[in-house]
Amino acid sequence: MTENTKNDLSSQLFQRALKVAPGGVHSPVRSFKGMDRAPIFFAKSEGAYLFDVEGKRYIDYCQSFGPLILGHRDPEVQEVVLEMIHTSWTFGACEPYSLELGEWLKENIPWLGKLRFVSSGTEAVMSALRVARGATGREKILKFDGCYHGHVDSLLVSAGSGLAGEAVPSSAGISATVGKLTVVCPLDDEAEFNRVFEENQCELAAVIIEPLPANYGLLPQRLEFLKFVADKCKKNNVLLIFDEVISGFRVALGGMAEITGIIPDLVCYGKILGGGFPVGCYGGRQDLMDMVAPLGPVYQAGTLSANPIGMRAGLATLKKMKRIQGWELLKAKTEHLKKELQPLLHTQNMNMVSFESLFWIHEKRENTDAAIRSNHLIPKNQAAGFKKLFLNALNKGLYLAPNAYEVGFMSAAHSSEVLAETVTIIKSALFDIQNDKFGVRPS
Ligand SMILES: *Cc1c(COP(=O)(O)O)cnc(C)c1O
Repeated sequence: MTENTKNDLSSQLFQRALKVAPGGVHSPVRSFKGMDRAPIFFAKSEGAYLFDVEGKRYIDYCQSFGPLILGHRDPEVQEVVLEMIHTSWTFGACEPYSLELGEWLKENIPWLGKLRFVSSGTEAVMSALRVARGATGREKILKFDGCYHGHVDSLLVSAGSGLAGEAVPSSAGISATVGKLTVVCPLDDEAEFNRVFEENQCELAAVIIEPLPANYGLLPQRLEFLKFVADKCKKNNVLLIFDEVISGFRVALGGMAEITGIIPDLVCYGKILGGGFPVGCYGGRQDLMDMVAPLGPVYQAGTLSANPIGMRAGLATLKKMKRIQGWELLKAKTEHLKKELQPLLHTQNMNMVSFESLFWIHEKRENTDAAIRSNHLIPKNQAAGFKKLFLNALNKGLYLAPNAYEVGFMSAAHSSEVLAETVTIIKSALFDIQNDKFGVRPS
């Protein structure tokens, strides 16, 4: 087992990386912050597996935080990627590849009027907000506490001191003036939403929500709550934006919109849509999307937008998912894993919640088995409990996202052998935790 001694290759690389990038990383969660060890450096990936720089193999349930729904380097996707590598990398001009993906999306998600490809989920959200403001002439956006929408300034805020309505920037460098244009509500609370909505109604351009909040644990919402939010928007001419960057093409081809039957005015996609390459997309009502340049006054552009490699990887991924009925397949795999793991986790006062092929392992709430639908209900010992499981599983060759509030992702490459090995590893990790002999490096 790779103990994280100062001499292992990952630790050596991390020491070098610390001199290059803030915290040694190019996105914060990658740093293993709070995990009391250096992050592992991976050199290679295939299917359900990651291989670190020393060649050690790990079963991967992070899957690059969701994009790889078919697993790493699915052979069919790899084939079209290689073909495109030998054809063109980028044109910065019109090409048929984004047209093919765009037409496929419109065909399979019939309410999608028009769409625009960008290069990340953050960019998609940022652009959708601009359209909403441009179309309504109003400035404020209502978001929900516990939902993540990328690192766009106006949404990197949370509720101030538990006070719904008041937003405080959750990052330095965000103008308080920009922060004031965002109002925040708790999830799963019709009354508070109603109150904050009505207080700001005349100024609201849009309400944005992750219809399946999955960036602060997995917090499935009641359908009635989502419908309440949607109805309120509709009745008051406030736009509804579904941020489906994580749920889109993950929970169903048509995402949470398909599952709930709620059609948003605008939708944001990313992650799976690029099949592992940087692709985002915003779209929705045609009259709204026709406000975007060059047709309309809302400006938005991108040098590498609709990158042909990402377009083809995304389309190959989605076509294969549809052909193999991937959504049912992945749900069955996830349900199976949950059935096996649940009794083991319960012995340690932990629980696994899942929605289609997303799952989250969390500390159980005290005195209740009721679902956690709001980030305020996440037990306080979540970080400490998850850390033990994470480190133990890691030492035994299983990689979960290195943060207690990130979810796990099943892929089509997680075969029944991989699932069986997962159960063995978690069982052994929980046993070690129970006997207090988990291999955290003494610091
Ligand atoms: C990942 C994510 C984003 C941000 O996408 P990036 O590609 O990381 O910029 C936005 N919204 C949700 C719901 C996400 O899960």
